[in-house]
Formats: sequence, structure tokens, C-alpha cells
Amino acid sequence: MTQEVPSAGAEAAGRVLRVAVPGPFPEPLDYAPPPEASPELLRPGVRLRVPLGRRRVVGVLVGAGPSRVAPERLRPALELLDPDGPVLPPDVLELALWAARYYRHPPGETLAAALPVLLRRGAAARSRRRRWRPAPGAAAALAGLARTPRRRRVLELLLRHPEGLEEAALAQALARTGGMGRWREALRALAAAGLVELAGPASPPAGVPSLEAGPALYPEQEVAVEAVRATLEGRERAGAPGAFLLEGVTGSGKTEVYLHLAAEALARGRQVLVLVPEIGLTPQLVDRFRRRLPAPVVVLHSGMGDRERLEAWLQARSGEAGVVLGTRSAVFAPLARPGLVVVDEEHDPSFKQQEGLRYHARDLAVWRARRLGVPALLGSATPSLESLHNVLRGRYRHLRLPRRAGGARPPRTAVLDLRRQPMEGLLSRALLEAVARHLQAGGQVLLFLNRRGYAPTLLCHTCGWVAACGRCDAHLVAHQAAGRLRCHHCGAERPLPGCCPACGGVELLALGHGTERVEQALARRFPGERVVRIDRDSTRRRGSLERALAAARSGEARILLGTQMLAKGHHLPGVTLAAVLDADQGLFSPDFRGPERMAQLLVQVAGRAGRAERPGEVLVQTHHPEHPLLQRLLREGYPGFAREALAERREAGLPPWTRQALLRVEAVRREAAWAFAERAAAGARALVERGEVGEVEVLGPAPAPMERRAGRHRVQLLLQAPARGPLHRLLDAWLPALAGLPEGRRARWHLDVDPQEVG
Ligand code: ADP
Ligand code: ZN
Ligand code: ZN
Repeated sequence: MTQEVPSAGAEAAGRVLRVAVPGPFPEPLDYAPPPEASPELLRPGVRLRVPLGRRRVVGVLVGAGPSRVAPERLRPALELLDPDGPVLPPDVLELALWAARYYRHPPGETLAAALPVLLRRGAAARSRRRRWRPAPGAAAALAGLARTPRRRRVLELLLRHPEGLEEAALAQALARTGGMGRWREALRALAAAGLVELAGPASPPAGVPSLEAGPALYPEQEVAVEAVRATLEGRERAGAPGAFLLEGVTGSGKTEVYLHLAAEALARGRQVLVLVPEIGLTPQLVDRFRRRLPAPVVVLHSGMGDRERLEAWLQARSGEAGVVLGTRSAVFAPLARPGLVVVDEEHDPSFKQQEGLRYHARDLAVWRARRLGVPALLGSATPSLESLHNVLRGRYRHLRLPRRAGGARPPRTAVLDLRRQPMEGLLSRALLEAVARHLQAGGQVLLFLNRRGYAPTLLCHTCGWVAACGRCDAHLVAHQAAGRLRCHHCGAERPLPGCCPACGGVELLALGHGTERVEQALARRFPGERVVRIDRDSTRRRGSLERALAAARSGEARILLGTQMLAKGHHLPGVTLAAVLDADQGLFSPDFRGPERMAQLLVQVAGRAGRAERPGEVLVQTHHPEHPLLQRLLREGYPGFAREALAERREAGLPPWTRQALLRVEAVRREAAWAFAERAAAGARALVERGEVGEVEVLGPAPAPMERRAGRHRVQLLLQAPARGPLHRLLDAWLPALAGLPEGRRARWHLDVDPQEVG
């Protein structure tokens, strides 16, 4: 991709603009420069409004070059949207274009994903946080504005706020009073007439806590901070790995290490980017960063309003924000003075996007940090096997925090063998006794089950009918409180039937146990206790998660039950018992990453217990207490488990020892999906046999783990190679051919590079 700046008179020399526009285009499109923009403003990273068919779309200028279309078909761009300079700094532009190539996604779509929604739609990249106030004596001029009602309206509003109003507030107020679309113009006219003026920034809101000092680091934390600090200065330290894996159990003080290094980077005038999983971006975490760091901390996540998100993004870009704390897509946040990139809970699957641009934010973060010459610090209690493999290969430096900070002792972990045990639903008697014991002693208990709803299967006792989704190969899950049957795969739902729709029988059996059912069992068993359930159903309403967590933290609720939403991130110091209700679920998952995920969750759940002075206890219910990976985990902890799991993967030729790409095909008609997948497989095999790409295995096609989903048949083809090189050489040759296959017209398909779920 050419990154050079189109020189003046580019058009005359037959050179045109390359513009990445949204759409399925594998390359940027060619345009002539917009008629009115001066050539030196046309720099890579500026947005242009361009014609596309009959539409006008927003694209990003990525370079220039000789025209690839006939002169009469070359259309001019319509408008330069960023006359003040590129909206994307060079490193983000480069990152996005690299991601587009690596993940095989159209560059225009990739750049669109990197931009906040408002910028994608063409809004000005300008903050609305400027504050305006009436100039002294402006009130007297009001009467003179009778013929310019817009200006009059703006001035009236400001006169009611002599202290000043931010543009955002102004826009909002004017929108309420009847859509004053052109308020900005009115404001400009008023300013020119000397009737309004810019006010200084608002005084910080009262109640901002003053900076807190953190605890003194213990020696291993010091070592970790020192190792990374040495690379903060950037490229001088060439040769030393710039990526670090910080491994330490929950509570070992990883966040303290981030905070110290962030403070160091800030002291050098640099900014810090911190990525956390969706579930981990809690108000407590944001508060902790704000209380500890002497610089503005902005947050970027998908739940924000468009304007709010753009403002935070602009503060990151301008350098006003010292710390950018965000989820997956914040890896694309622009930074004026980047100094450090942190990825917390680096093993978390939510860093991989599962649709559209299927990128892995951790991997992009490491790539970006390397290009910038700044350190990348990946932290986890349970590092991904990918990252541990990178340590083995010398690509990451391994730093370890061996113990819980503040002297908390590690919890005692034991397996509860469920075989032949008396059970109350999913709760063994031994577990119930342990719960009672901990409550008696004034502790809190946390029970983990990765299955929401009341029961995963509803069955007719008379005729055997099972409530199944009509569009997926899946049972419908009974949700009792909502009175619904729901498909957890496609979202289909219907009322919970009172009798069997097949035979009219009234004896419908709920089989299996979800969190809702366990909640009821616990409430029956411990009538005096408040049970708090935390899963996607119980936290759908705004604020409900915060309320539930507040009840858990205050100790008002002493029995906490939930899915992985509860297992992660929340600081619950009162918990003394943590239990995994069904470990078998993960041990026998069809995906080769099942045991790794199970081990990570188990360690995370264990990390919830006994944080403070009180020693904790962890119980794991299973029907397979002798399972070797489980045994390894219990005896040697996660490091031992990971060693064993890595060895198994090596034996089996699986990632991280190999690289994968997964072609997923789906179609309403089964044959259509198979036809495309077969042709694609034949094409890939032919390329491999020709011997030009290197060693690549072509596995399949095979039915996807859930063959029918949302009314579509799904087939997949797995490509696997010992290294990136051959795999990507194959993709280079294969994908363009796939796009032209006639079978592709009746099937949808996409490619997932480094897939996280292959079944
Ligand atoms: P992690 O991120 O690994 O879960 P944290 O950094 O959140 O761990 O630390 C867990 C708790 O221990 C926090 O309350 C933190 O303030 C405290 N802590 C961390 N490091 C120290 C230390 N060196 N001395 C005393 N307390 C510490
Ligand atoms: Zn029936
Ligand atoms: Zn379904």
C-alpha cells in the first residue's frame, strides 16, 4: 500500500487518490481529488466524502498512485471532511491497514471499524466541550435580534447560563426546543458580533477525590516494574523484547504494577492505553485509575453514547487524556504521545471479535506497541497458551507475581466427587454443608455455573416431545420467571407451554439445571439468606448489575450465584467459599480449547475466595475427579496445567504450535453450503499440491459444531499450517479465487484467521 502524500498536481501526473470506502472492496478505490481542497491537505488519514454508485459515502484517504480506471470513469471526491488534518494518526492508519490484510477484511470496513460512529458518518472531528457564555452587556442586544430568531434563541439560552454552557449541552437544549439544526452558525455570528465569548474550562466537578498513594511494592512487583520501566524510553533498547507477560493470581498485585508503570509513563509525558475485557471494565476499576493517576482517565467502550465516545476519542487523540481505559476496539484509539500499552486478562476470549473484522485485540495491541517502540504488558492469572508459547519462543518476557499481596493465603482447593452422592439438584450434600458452614462463620459464598435459565431442556413425560428450536439444532431453554422458552443461539422465543404441544400431556419435565433453578434451590435451602444471581438475564435492566454487586459487597447478600459474569473481575473481599458447580461441562467440550477455558474459569473462581485475612476454600464438583488435566490443575496450579496442555497441543499439532484459518459457510439450503465448501476445499488442495505455498493441511469440509443455526446450514473448512508464512501464502492465492466461485452466489461465507472457536 502506498503511503506517500499525493504531490501537488497529482492529477496532472496521472496520479489519483486511493480511498478506502466501506463495502466489500478488497482494495481502496481510485478517485480524483475533490475540486476545492488544496493538494497539501490531502494527506493519508483524512476522510473524504466520495460518490459510490448513487450513494455518497465517507472514506479514508490511504495513499496515491497511478490511476487503475479509465479517465472517463474516474470520479472526483466530493468533499474533504478533515481540513484541519488527518483524523487518524499514521500509526492507527497503519495498524488498521495491517489488520485488514492479516484478517482478510476489506480495508474500508476495517477503517470504519476503527473510527467512532459519528466520524464514520461524516461528523466533524471537533469537540463540543468548548463552553460559551454571554459577553458583558449582551442582554441589551437581545431586542435587536428579532429578525434572526436562531441567534436570539442561542443568546437567550446563554443569558440563562451566565457561567457558560458546553456546546454539547447547547446542542441538546436547542434540539429539545424544536430542532435548531444550524445553531453552530448562529453561535459563530454571535461571536463575530461580540455578543458571546468562550468561557474557560468548567471547574472540576466537586467531589473528585484527591490522589491516593498506592501501597509500597513487594520485591517481585518491583522486579516486574523495573523490567518494563527499562523499556519505557522506547527504541534505544533495541534487542530487548518489548512485550511482557505478567503472570500472577488474582490479588497478586498486577493492577498495582500497571498503575506504577502508568505513573512512570505519565511522568515522561506519555499516554497509556489499557485494554480490559468487556466484563472487567467496572466503575471500581475506572475509579481506581482516577484516584491513583495524576492525569485525566477516559473510558472507551461499546455501551457509550456516540457523542460521549467521540469526545473521549478526541481527548485521547489530542493527548488531553493521559490514560485511555477501554475494551477491545480501544486498541484502535488514537494517541498523541503513546508510551505504554497494557492488556489485562489477556487470555480473555472477548478480545477476539466474532463477527465482521475478526481481530484479536491482544495481538493487535502487541503489534501496535512494537511498531511504536513502546512496551506491551499483558497480564493474567491464567495466561493463554498462545502467550505462554510466545514466552517459550523468546518473544515475550515472563514476569511472575508469586503470591497474593497483603498477605492473604491461597485458598484450599478440593474436588467433590459427585458419583453416587445424594444431590439436591446440582448441589451435592457436601457442598450444601460447606455453604452452611461458611455462612455460619460469617463468610460469603460464591457459586459458579456457566448455564443461565431455569432448565436447558423441557420434555414431555407422556410422549417424549422435547422443546426444540425450529431454526437451530438446539433445545430451547426454559426461563421460568419470564415464562418463556428461549433459544440461546438465535434468540427465538415463545411462551412456556402449560401442556405438551404434541400430545396435550400436562406432565412436562424440566431437565438439567440453570442458574435460575439453582437460585430457587438455594433460596429454599437457606430461607433467611438473600441470594443474588448475576447472569445476563438478571442484569438486563440498567443498573441491576451495579445493585446486585453492591448488595454482594455490602454483605447484605451472602449467597452469590452466577455465570462467568460473576467469576470475573469484581472485587468481593467477603467471599470465603467459591464453588464450581459443574466442571464436567468444560472438560468435555467439543472445542480443543475447552479444557483451557475451564481451567481459566476455575482459577478465576478460586481467585474470588479468601482475598482478605480470612483463608478461603474452593470446591469443584465433578463426576470425573481423576481427569488428568483437572488433577494437574489441582496439584500444580495453572502453570502445571498449562505445561501439560501445551505438550498435548504439540502432540496433536494444534495451536499455538500451528496456525489456523477457518472458512465458515452457511446457506438456507444444505446442498448450497456444501457445494461451496467442497469447491473451496478442492481449490485449496490444488494450491497445496502445486507446492508453491508450503506445508498446509486442508481439513474438511465438515459440519459446523451446531450444523443448523438460525435457519441456516453451516459447514466449515479448517486450514492448518506449522507457521504463518505458508498459511498466508495460501490465503493470498486462494481467497481471490473463492470470491469468483459461482457456488458463492447461493451461500454466505467468511474467513476467520486465528479462530478461537473451531469446535
Ligand atoms: P490483581 O490485579 O493481580 O488482581 P491488585 O493489584 O488488584 O491485584 O491487588 C489486590 C489487592 O492487593 C488490592 O487491594 C491492592 O491494593 C493490594 N496490593 C497490591 N499490591 C500490594 C502491595 N505491594 N502491598 C500491599 N497491598 C497490595
Ligand atoms: Zn407429549
Ligand atoms: Zn435457535
